[in-house]
Amino acid sequence: MHPPADADARRAIAPVICYPNDSLPAPDLALYRAARDGADKAGEVLVPPRDARAFRVPAGHVFRISSVEGPQVGDLNLWNAHDLSERFYSGKSRALHGTHLATGERMWSSFPHLRPMATIIEDTLSWYGIDKYGGSVHDVIGTRCDPYTGNLLSGTQYHHCCHSNLTRALADETGMTVHEAEPHVHDVLNVFMCTGFTRDTGQYFMKASPVRPGDHLDFFAEIDLLGALSACPGGDCSSEHSSDAAACHPLLVEVFAPQPGALDGWTSPPVNGYDRSHGR
Ligand SMILES: [Zn+2]
Repeated sequence: MHPPADADARRAIAPVICYPNDSLPAPDLALYRAARDGADKAGEVLVPPRDARAFRVPAGHVFRISSVEGPQVGDLNLWNAHDLSERFYSGKSRALHGTHLATGERMWSSFPHLRPMATIIEDTLSWYGIDKYGGSVHDVIGTRCDPYTGNLLSGTQYHHCCHSNLTRALADETGMTVHEAEPHVHDVLNVFMCTGFTRDTGQYFMKASPVRPGDHLDFFAEIDLLGALSACPGGDCSSEHSSDAAACHPLLVEVFAPQPGALDGWTSPPVNGYDRSHGR
């Protein structure tokens, strides 16, 4: 196909940000961090390698995901603890904030709710930035490793992909069967994972995560949350996933309860204000 005569001129047009986000409600990070600093630990869950665990975080509490023992990435799902139909919306969070989430950015919930579920208040990998390959950490561009894609590409039956791990964890937490739980599993926040798109072919890539034991990501729970975290079978995702080949390590989830009064002036965000009439 021959390009049109004005091809270079069309390519030269400067991009426009789809969703200028300076009108998003800004989180009060100082308040959230002060509440965390005075908080008491309320519980913890150790997520075994190549497996997942569920956890609950009341609104106003903080949860921390930490690397322990060795470099490991995690796949995070969040639901409204009282209504599983409200769940993390990876695609809209990506549209609002970009390909990777950073401190001060939010995990937004699905329609018709579209409100902040959790806010990142600290990230010990914030120094990483964007590397020369276009890679960065904590993406919302991947989905989650799953046995269907593995079967499609190589005919395998592998049962410890993040999709299956999250399905079992949700089933164990709620009493659902795995077939009942599976449709609630959704695209994740790829915690600690280092990813991007290749510049030449636009393909999704991963590379060894820069995470080391002690690194952590802190979240402020904006609503009552049910979470599930999978310690991905890809380990640090330096080579492959969807198999037992990579070295894998546990991930630690800790929940912290602020002192009474520490969040005075803060209220859990209401559901989105659109009237849902859709023009009828
Ligand atoms: Zn995975």
